[in-house]
Amino acid sequence: MSIKRINTLCVHGEKDNNNSTGAITVPVYQSATFAHPGVGQTTGYDYSRLQNPTREALEKTIALLENGTDAMAFSTGMAAMAVLCELFSPGDQIIATNDLYGGSVRFLNNVVKKNGVAVDYLDTGDIESLKKKILPNTKAVLVETPSNPMMQLTDIAAVSVVCKEKNILLIVDNTFLTPVYQKPLELGADIVLHSGTKYLGGHNDTLAGFLVTNNIELSEKLRFLCKTIGACLAPWDCYLILRGIKTLAIRMERITDNARKIARWLGSRSKVRSVRYAGESGMISFETDTAETARKVLSGVRIILYAESLGGVESLITYPILQTHADVPEDARESLGINDRLLRLSVGIEDVDDLIADLEAVLE
Ligand SMILES: *Cc1c(COP(=O)(O)O)cnc(C)c1O
Repeated sequence: MSIKRINTLCVHGEKDNNNSTGAITVPVYQSATFAHPGVGQTTGYDYSRLQNPTREALEKTIALLENGTDAMAFSTGMAAMAVLCELFSPGDQIIATNDLYGGSVRFLNNVVKKNGVAVDYLDTGDIESLKKKILPNTKAVLVETPSNPMMQLTDIAAVSVVCKEKNILLIVDNTFLTPVYQKPLELGADIVLHSGTKYLGGHNDTLAGFLVTNNIELSEKLRFLCKTIGACLAPWDCYLILRGIKTLAIRMERITDNARKIARWLGSRSKVRSVRYAGESGMISFETDTAETARKVLSGVRIILYAESLGGVESLITYPILQTHADVPEDARESLGINDRLLRLSVGIEDVDDLIADLEAVLE
């Protein structure tokens, strides 16, 4: 029987190939290398940079969740991004959503461009502008939807039609919605990128990144880069992410429930000018009336923690202008609306009334 429903997939995922003990949990195979049974023979594992049984179980689970044929686990989301960008060569061009995660912008502007790959940004939600930006050397469109932190939406299926017509790769960063709410490969994307540090892990206790694809040729190219570059996820961290995934679907349910109530409540506050929320998952950006109010919120909240990152069981609040988007050029930031009044909240699984009371005390 093949399991398709996300609640069951999260709990049962992919089993350990080597399990003869009946263990319910995939063990941590803390081994760098594996003995060969004979000359020219292999158990299927040779050296952990290439593959490790704990990582393999995690990768297969992620592939199942995203409905891909292959997934690769990296030490961080940025490591996944770095390996991904090795698909491109000097002279190529990448088109990216103008409101990407700040670390991705820093990577594209400082590393990818230095390596001779042109990067152009635009609102990928605007299909007509996107079509006009495509050049003969365009090799990929990189989309984040909803975007970070402005929650702009891109229609993945519509962009995919354009990309397929022009033979361009469509890459989607699915960190914010997770496969619980969005499966980009089913909408026509070629590669899905994740910061597993966020919702997939879900407990703010480790870092991880993923690339997922349903294209055999891409999977071979990426696997080659993976083993060559060596930015792979260590066995213990694979175990932590596997454990986190068991509760992914139920966490997302509670987080969405909390976030909807908080977004509605924020919208009714006189000191809140605007609220941006995609309707699912736990990311809310809101603009306060003044920079003083924004700072008061950051220093005054007690349950919600003023900390970078997102997607965990703990609610976190960040100041994009000083944190995630500090390295985004100021004019780009301003034109997107990332100013000194904008706050980004990652809603956790606490009691929603406690979270609202925490915000109410600093927004009075
Ligand atoms: C955090 C994040 C990344 C980078 O992932 P790390 O695990 O921090 O390296 C990439 N994209 C998005 C949308 C993120 O939120």
